[in-house]
Amino acid sequence: MNLRNLPWFVLGAVIVMLIAGFPLIASGYHLALGISYLYFTVLATAWALFSGPTRYISLATVAFFGIGAYTVAVFGELLPWPLVLLAAGIIGVGVALVVGLSTLRLSGIYFVIFTFGLAELIRQLVTWYEVNIHGSVGRYIFVAISRNEIYWQLLALVVLVFLVGWLIGRSRLGLALRVIGEDETVARHAGIDTTKAKLTLFAISAFFMTLTGAVMAPRWTYIDPAIAFSPMLSFQVVIMALLGGAGSLIGPVLGVIPLVILFDVLSAYFPNYFSILLGIVFILIVYVLPHGVVGFLQKHWPRRSQAPAIAILRPAARRSLLAVEQLRKSFGGLVAVDDLSFTIEPGEIVGLIGPNGSGKTTVLNLISGALRPDSGEVRFKGQPIVGLNPYRVARLGVARTFQLVRVLPTMSVIENVISAIAHRERPLWGASAERTAGGLLMRVGLTDKAALHAGQLTYIDQKRLELARALALEPEVLLLDEWLAGLNPTELGEGIALIRSLQDGGLTIILVEHVMDAIRSLCGRCIVMNAGKKIADGPPATALADREVVRAYLGEADA
Ligand code: ADP
Ligand code: MG
Repeated sequence: MNLRNLPWFVLGAVIVMLIAGFPLIASGYHLALGISYLYFTVLATAWALFSGPTRYISLATVAFFGIGAYTVAVFGELLPWPLVLLAAGIIGVGVALVVGLSTLRLSGIYFVIFTFGLAELIRQLVTWYEVNIHGSVGRYIFVAISRNEIYWQLLALVVLVFLVGWLIGRSRLGLALRVIGEDETVARHAGIDTTKAKLTLFAISAFFMTLTGAVMAPRWTYIDPAIAFSPMLSFQVVIMALLGGAGSLIGPVLGVIPLVILFDVLSAYFPNYFSILLGIVFILIVYVLPHGVVGFLQKHWPRRSQAPAIAILRPAARRSLLAVEQLRKSFGGLVAVDDLSFTIEPGEIVGLIGPNGSGKTTVLNLISGALRPDSGEVRFKGQPIVGLNPYRVARLGVARTFQLVRVLPTMSVIENVISAIAHRERPLWGASAERTAGGLLMRVGLTDKAALHAGQLTYIDQKRLELARALALEPEVLLLDEWLAGLNPTELGEGIALIRSLQDGGLTIILVEHVMDAIRSLCGRCIVMNAGKKIADGPPATALADREVVRAYLGEADA
């Protein structure tokens, strides 16, 4: 061990001993306070494990907490204590999976409301069961667990939740969740199975909440649904996590420290106004510290990030083929894509052009899985891909960019690329993922900006980054939606050269584009659309000279 670290090591050991030995020296009141600290630490940290990266605000904390407490009330006397805890954990995870499957499609405020409703629903169900089946609304808890033991069990949970959080933070799953939090659409098109990632974390988070409820249950000798499922708890946990900062592992604890005391004082002196005061605290935190204490610190003492390693991109030259067959998609009365068929041969760059609103972006959305057609089929190497989730299409080897550029703004440039590398068909992680990402950034000319936040990039650099992220999937087909739009003449020249170099690497490209010079210089063939229909398909010179094509474009100019 390095001797310079010795004082820190000693200090750490003393703190650990003080925390672990606290029940032996503390008075009743202080021990109760210590228990509050620990259980809110577990709850807030577990809450932030899921809600921090995904930014899905869950008010279901108390649902799981209450389930844990009730498991103890029901099984406490029947089973040995470790089995009671195990049962609680299993039930909590089971409920989380069922609930998660049905709710994680919701986002934003709908998710918040649903989780709140869920907690209420479970409370009502338990109440109904207790009154009608069990015969009395409350239960007595007779388990011989002392307060000291509760304290130590909670401490073990704290250690465990931090360990798990730390592991997740370093894993592909952790990165996937952060991408989901930034932009869920991008996540799907970057190969991330968003449902699985969210569900996994929701269940892990619920596991800890349920166990906390179970460990805490012997504190009460009597529980009823109103005690075990008090919605106030969910709000307290959200407030604590937000105050500290839900985006980092240590953040929630920084919120727990002041707020346990504050809530204790408020409920002792102003019991009747507690919920109003809670609301005021909540609003203050959201306005004053929207990213929590940790966000505030990071803003004022930003960490220096390291430059990534560089590697050479491996060429992605394989045979590929895409066939669009009688594709049709309407939005209400508007037929955006109308009986469209075409094929793309391996190694081609095909221009997909047409006036605004002719359905080009919709075609890309149908191919990439963002939209499901009303009828028709898309085949990739002979395999039907209509109806597949976007992340599946992406992993199969069809990557895309977006017409309105979409980067993950608060993640670093290199992380933007790694997010796709870590979730493609042949994922890489750790140093090799960084090397590959570095190679891709070099290829698009972003090497020296790897450590910046993607949101800090200029427009053209964001476009480059989006391209690198698409390439990170090792695609065989690349769908570029007006990728060259808005570039100045120099940038346009560079962009055209870049796209051509991709073709040389064996990539097949569909280029939706308005810049006709680019179409003429890059595309061997172009498909012209008007009002959802294909009106021409051939070499640019021929297709653009077609009378119907001229009319379509002039018609638009007249309008
Ligand atoms: P392009 O990319 O060729 O400009 P789009 O594919 O974006 O055209 O749009 C084709 C037509 O479909 C337009 O009239 C557009 O307004 C409509 N459209 C596209 N997406 C949607 C949607 N999600 N909901 C309703 N209408 C849409
Ligand atoms: Mg478009």
